[in-house]
Amino acid sequence: MTQNSGAPIDRIVDAIRSRQRFVLSSHSRPDGDSIGSQLAMAYALHALGKDVSIVNKDRAPGPMQQFPGVDGIVIADEVAGEFEAAIIMECSDLARTGVKGLDRSFVINIDHHPGNTGFGDINWFDSSASACGEMVFDLVRALGVPMSGEIATHVYLAILTDTGSFHYSGITPRTFEICKETLEAGVDPVQVARTVYDSNHMGRLKLFGSVLSAMQIDRTGHIAIVYVDYAMARAAGGTYEDTEGLVNLPLTVKEIEAVVFFKQEKDDEYRVSLRSKGEIDIGAVAKSFGGGGHKNAAGCTVRGPIEDLRREIVEKVERAIEDRDTREST
Ligand code: 5GP
Ligand code: MN
Repeated sequence: MTQNSGAPIDRIVDAIRSRQRFVLSSHSRPDGDSIGSQLAMAYALHALGKDVSIVNKDRAPGPMQQFPGVDGIVIADEVAGEFEAAIIMECSDLARTGVKGLDRSFVINIDHHPGNTGFGDINWFDSSASACGEMVFDLVRALGVPMSGEIATHVYLAILTDTGSFHYSGITPRTFEICKETLEAGVDPVQVARTVYDSNHMGRLKLFGSVLSAMQIDRTGHIAIVYVDYAMARAAGGTYEDTEGLVNLPLTVKEIEAVVFFKQEKDDEYRVSLRSKGEIDIGAVAKSFGGGGHKNAAGCTVRGPIEDLRREIVEKVERAIEDRDTREST
């Protein structure tokens, strides 16, 4: 059988069995799914006696530092050393890693984001997975590795965070079947949720306060616009890392259906995080600005005067809401 035939997961199993030295990576500014997927994969490879190194551009969010193995992640812009295979998770293209040199190895691409470019030597893409962690769970099983407490914890962390604590569309019966198996393998869901959501420092809460006080609402009353820059973060005693999760809060208001969150990067450059409820496709909005993501959670990087960017992006989100209304009334 050649590398190009058979189901991707079977080809990945073969590719892993026949190699020894692995480097794992995921996107810059990693989230719970990138951390959980990488660590679950790393523990499974260790169990098979493989050599594994995880290289990420940025540190894991503060609360996630407490999960097993996270302290062993190498933070670097470039891979040092030679590896037989690079397993890239959660990335629509290789550049999303922010790490150079990964393409020197045989590349295995595992992702659940619509719009994955198929950059790997093996590409396993499944947009029906609520988290990349679901795919890693299947792979761990296919490799015949027992579900250890560490692997199960990281799979559960990936699913808990990437479903927005079981809020987003994309959750399937399978999501709960996997969670059930992780609990049977010893995961304590209360402990994981406490560690992820209830172990912040005060600067983060103060920063949430100042950013949310300055929140604006668009003319339709359904879109929340939030903004942060370094001065606001400093004044509150927090950092940009502390804004993780903030984008979801305006959605807790009943009439708010979408959120546009601007983070100033430098001068006229902004990271934009987009969120929506239900059938409003803000993934398409992010894509039209050169970014990507899912129907309900997406992002992009944009440049220009903030007032223009705000108008252009909010208009597109308003149109995405109108499109949803049109679809639902026909
Ligand atoms: P966040 O707003 O949390 O940064 O990102 C939300 C979702 O959109 C994530 O699943 C992330 O992978 C995706 N995303 C965010 N920014 C970008 C981007 O610039 N390009 C692509 N392709 N996806 C993005
Ligand atoms: Mn994900």
